[in-house]
Amino acid sequence: MIRVTIYNEYVHEKKDEAVRAIYPDGIHMALKKHLEDEELQISTVTLDELPEGLSDEVLENTDVLVWWGHMAHQHVPDEVAVRVQQAVLRGMGMVVLHSGHHSKPFKLLMGTSCNLTWRENGDYELVWVCNPAHPIAQGIGRFIKLEAEETYGEPFGVPEPDELVFIGSYQGGEVFRSGCCYRKENGKVFYFQPGHETVPTYHHPEILKVIKNAIKWAHPIYRVKALECPHVGKPLED
Ligand code: ZN
Repeated sequence: MIRVTIYNEYVHEKKDEAVRAIYPDGIHMALKKHLEDEELQISTVTLDELPEGLSDEVLENTDVLVWWGHMAHQHVPDEVAVRVQQAVLRGMGMVVLHSGHHSKPFKLLMGTSCNLTWRENGDYELVWVCNPAHPIAQGIGRFIKLEAEETYGEPFGVPEPDELVFIGSYQGGEVFRSGCCYRKENGKVFYFQPGHETVPTYHHPEILKVIKNAIKWAHPIYRVKALECPHVGKPLED
């Protein structure tokens, strides 16, 4: 079993009727319902439950943290962002979704602005597989077609991905690095662009397949209790 914690700020769904119609119990509950099976054991946490909801203990018992946030990034306590960053460096996996590109923990992990260009015109998106041999692309064809998504465009202010799995292209001509893998010390991070709150992206079977593949890819194979810089005293040989 992979222990997954899904963080969703859970603000749009409570304020906006159109979003609630798509995700009546919140994006976190939709993802949990679609993804939970014999391989994934899923807990959820929302902004209202911070900081305790993402305590050190919760993170130590999380193999992969999934993060969706948008309008309330600034309300995530700094201490939580640092805890998440440190947990990733120790080995926890993380899957950052859509507008999570501007979340505090993702920006800490990237060390860059994570800015991009965006517009909402109801464009369709093609999420192209650019690395079909990658574990996260398994079970996906050449591309995933999303009838409508928010348009994200380059430049995307992130470090060069260690592996690029998807490139999104949009009706209006933009392209965007939609699926980016990073290794951060002992932990793995996957950023995945689809998932604007006013379109039903997280009910799309292939998008869910990618998220599940990403969780399995990010699942830690090596994890330490603490990050240390030990003085080893004697040389191996005299
Ligand atoms: Zn959005």
